[in-house]
Amino acid sequence: MKIEKRLMELSRQRYGRTLRQCTAPEIYYLLLQLTKEYIKGKKAIDGDRKVYYISAEFLIGKLLSNNLINLGIYDEVNTILEKHGTSLSQVEIYEPEPSLGNGGLGRLAACFLDSIATLGLPGAGIGLNYHFGLFRQMFVDNLQCAERDRWIERSSWLQKTKTSFNVKFGDRTVKSVMYDIDVVGYENGIDKLHLFDLQTVDERIVETGIDFDKTNIDKNLTLFLYPDDSDEAGNLLRIYQQYFMVSNAAQLIIKEMKDKGFDLYELDKHAVIQINDTHPTLVIPELIRILTQEEEFTMDDAISVVSRTCAYTNHTILAEALEKWPLHYLEKVVPVLVPIIKELANRVKKNCKDPKVLIIDKDKRVHMAHIDIHYGFSVNGVAAIHTDILKQTELKPFYDLYPDKFNNKTNGVTFRRWLLECNRPLADLLDKTIGTGYRKDANELEKLLSFKEDESVLNAIAAIKQDKKEELAREIGKKEGVELNTDSIFDIQVKRLHEYKRQQMNALYIIHKYLEIKGGKLPKRPITCIFGAKAAPAYVIARDIIHLLLVLQEIVNKDPDVSPYLKVVMVTNYNVSYAEKLIPACDISEQISLASKEASGTSNMKFMLNGAITLGTDDGANVEIHDLVGDDNIYIFGVDSDTVISHYAKADYVSKDYYEKSPVIKEAVDFITGPEALAVGNEENLTRLSNELLNKDWFMTLLDLEDYIKAKDRIFEDYEDRDKWKRMMLVNIAKAGFFSSDRTIEEYNKDIWKINC
Ligand SMILES: *Cc1c(COP(=O)(O)O)cnc(C)c1O
Repeated sequence: MKIEKRLMELSRQRYGRTLRQCTAPEIYYLLLQLTKEYIKGKKAIDGDRKVYYISAEFLIGKLLSNNLINLGIYDEVNTILEKHGTSLSQVEIYEPEPSLGNGGLGRLAACFLDSIATLGLPGAGIGLNYHFGLFRQMFVDNLQCAERDRWIERSSWLQKTKTSFNVKFGDRTVKSVMYDIDVVGYENGIDKLHLFDLQTVDERIVETGIDFDKTNIDKNLTLFLYPDDSDEAGNLLRIYQQYFMVSNAAQLIIKEMKDKGFDLYELDKHAVIQINDTHPTLVIPELIRILTQEEEFTMDDAISVVSRTCAYTNHTILAEALEKWPLHYLEKVVPVLVPIIKELANRVKKNCKDPKVLIIDKDKRVHMAHIDIHYGFSVNGVAAIHTDILKQTELKPFYDLYPDKFNNKTNGVTFRRWLLECNRPLADLLDKTIGTGYRKDANELEKLLSFKEDESVLNAIAAIKQDKKEELAREIGKKEGVELNTDSIFDIQVKRLHEYKRQQMNALYIIHKYLEIKGGKLPKRPITCIFGAKAAPAYVIARDIIHLLLVLQEIVNKDPDVSPYLKVVMVTNYNVSYAEKLIPACDISEQISLASKEASGTSNMKFMLNGAITLGTDDGANVEIHDLVGDDNIYIFGVDSDTVISHYAKADYVSKDYYEKSPVIKEAVDFITGPEALAVGNEENLTRLSNELLNKDWFMTLLDLEDYIKAKDRIFEDYEDRDKWKRMMLVNIAKAGFFSSDRTIEEYNKDIWKINC
């Protein structure tokens, strides 16, 4: 009643109209204001020890529904809206999605903030307030185009604060301004996400698309996430951004310590800093600089306390992602840190003989991860197999030096967003079937196992899946103009575009199936292959793969012989909001990375939780999903990570051999540059991609292709045993509890952060 009264009051004040007379976007702004007022009444989570989670990305998604759920007023608000002729789902369309992340790493940071607040831990996220994010994706002539993703509006969740710091670069000093977004714990208090912006930022310097002057630091610093780094100016800009982020973080942390009257010599008692991937690494030398230059610490004392405060999370074993900055770049951008980095490097050099652990290598490149490992107290991987590979292979020399620093924290996702919000009917069914305890303790999902033979529960799960498929088909019809058959199998691969994730292998399967159907071999049931992915604009082969997928979409969907049995759709601008529609509607979750290369993956967890069956390699968290559900409830194919690692070590994988040996592979690869593809695609893109597959294929697509085809045909066959399939869905949902980010954060806290324990 109070909420309804307040909403009606606000609509009169703001628009001079009744709630029913307001448009959906107007009601969105009313709800934004109402929710903010509600949050003000909640208490800030506080304590003597706090975690600072620094990350270049926070892929938080829309916040209205999420905040209403966590505040416990979602149903009440929705009922009020329905009474006044609308609904939350009609209104939230008008909320812009914050463009503060790229993929899994950023989404993980967002899930973690949700769980930190939900568990009542004092914590804050620290990042940058990118005005245009990565980019907004469009397709023109079957090619990806990038536009700026404008998401900041006059009224939004961002709240400007009075906090501001000076950040001194080699050639200029800039001023920051801190914006806050409230992080609402589920039935708990409030933490903050602090986003730093540049006071002099100027959006007008962006020309067409996402092009801008990369040297105009005073204006461009917080415009884009991951600006194109294919030239020197782009590399320097990334270092400017990183230092801007961590200098603000360090100054904020020191200020909070002082404001609370804590002794900086006890920094490690009151603060723990989680460094999310290598982008925030410079926070280590920056804190040491502040303590030695502004607080009169000795170098030994500063290094000691900072090393006991910082912990590092590794997200990848791909060499390209482990940042190495040429020392002369750092000398140009952050000369104040260079003497400190050299000191840190010298101390390592004195104690360690192995050149593989040096901070500054013989080519004068600074290895950011090495700073984190030597001068942090914890190093964690993000899934069991990933941490094992770090220990045994990629970071072995470090593991030999510091075995006690290494630990695993298998990723998780917040069930508030990835179940309660995106699949309300499934949550309601769970409430009715096993009670609501799983909302606070995700392990209680296992209670569902006792309904494995209960036909009414199995049918209810299948009916929800069918409804979600129909919802998605409407969405895709509207947004992409492609009509989907909801009796077909929805096979979905959505994730950043990268060769290691092997969207190209899925494309080769589609070619194989297309040719089979053309040859008269029809599948028992139509198949719908759905993709969503952005490619980094400078990643040429990734853009070529998108081109191939769009070319296949055109060829397959326009072919009257094939399209009744096979459809392809690449959705535009895959983001969190799209994920929330795609994931509940999925039958088959494609997790087909080259074994050893996907650190964890988190969409695999979201899909499982929503009753999709995984088709994947034994990689990342798929390994743990496999262990939990058993062989009968997952489809695993391909060579294992040991085999892959040995191929790399021996350099004995030759993709051409696989092409020449297998007529099936040959036919599929040849199609890429065949007459049908060239009739709708570009010769340059398709030839480059085909050459890459035949002459390089660094991520061993052709190695696993035949096995993939077999596994995929088997999973399609099994789909026809509907009872068996429904039981598989139930087992996957029941076993997903382990992948709640609440479990992950409890482990971070027990082993690394040690807050309130
Ligand atoms: C979960 C999520 C990801 C991560 O997907 P992976 O398949 O684990 O790489 C990326 N983008 C969005 C929008 C997500 O929600």
